[in-house]
Amino acid sequence: MNSLIDSIITIDGAQGEGGGQILRTALSLSMITGKAFTLTNIRAGRKKPGLMRQHLVCVQSAQQISNAKVEGAMLGSQELIFQPQQVQAGEYHFQIGSAGSTTLVLQTILPALLLQNESSQISIQGGTHNPLAPSADFISMCFLPTLQKIGVEVDFQLEKVGFMPIGAGQIRASIHPWLDRKALNLCERGDVQRIESFAGCLNLDKTDINQRELDTLSKKLNIDHAHQMHMHGVSQGNALAVLVKFAAHQQLFTALGTMNRSAERVANGLASEVRQYLGTGAMVDEYLADQLLLPLALGAGGSFTASHISEHTRTQAQMIQRFMDCDIQLLEAEKPCHITVNRT
Ligand code: AMP
Repeated sequence: MNSLIDSIITIDGAQGEGGGQILRTALSLSMITGKAFTLTNIRAGRKKPGLMRQHLVCVQSAQQISNAKVEGAMLGSQELIFQPQQVQAGEYHFQIGSAGSTTLVLQTILPALLLQNESSQISIQGGTHNPLAPSADFISMCFLPTLQKIGVEVDFQLEKVGFMPIGAGQIRASIHPWLDRKALNLCERGDVQRIESFAGCLNLDKTDINQRELDTLSKKLNIDHAHQMHMHGVSQGNALAVLVKFAAHQQLFTALGTMNRSAERVANGLASEVRQYLGTGAMVDEYLADQLLLPLALGAGGSFTASHISEHTRTQAQMIQRFMDCDIQLLEAEKPCHITVNRT
């Protein structure tokens, strides 16, 4: 692969967490800073390394919005060179062509589009409720409401639900210019104000799954309101969620129904996750923690307590510091863990 330019950031995709997040963060930051990068050993830490469809669409969507010159953008590729040009707000449609996660594609292009002077309209087709990725519910009930506190305005709609393996879901987002960048402070969580549960099924023969999940959650947690989610789409699946509300923050926990696992078992697993989080005294869960670092680094910084500092969070902090001058402290000795992000 011949090099496109001289001053290029070189990233080893095998570092730290070794997954797709390294690629997505490199794409986001490259578009924002204008710095080109080469990425080797893409997803070396995963069973099937290299670019899968979802990652390829992340590259292609970033390429399209920033008119980038790219080498190595093909399925299975373990090396990529990406040289962005000017990011352009606008109307874009991306199709993953598999049940790969639409929300991860959205998170890749969101930061660069937020920093434009005009709004963008995005639609993405693929999976909306995937294992190991934020579900569309997590985006609408947790990620975006938290970003709203730092001044980010995004209108988000889940138009069609997409479960593996068929996918065929659709999300839509209007991304508005980030005009007022505010610091985040989510350190003192106070008392729980309300807990809500959600369960939904799409095209499944059994009709009692939602209710059994909601009943199980109510036995394990003090649920104030249980919601049946109405899902539209052509794939099949089951999703459930628990929303924990504090005065200053709302945290969502999600699970997916699985063949050969009873509705009760799935709901019990989710309830245990929520109870464990409640026991830490932290405000932000381990997933939102890694997803907040980049928006805070681009905005006015901030600090929050986190239930756990994951390898994703550690790798994300290192990646951000490769592209930007930014001080990120991950304090694990404190309980709950404490994370601060400051532009330097
Ligand atoms: P990667 O494994 O590198 O592709 O990154 C996965 C991303 O999905 C990370 O940003 C995680 O925080 C996020 N993620 C994984 N599981 C969940 C979940 N249950 N809820 C919310 N976000 C998640």
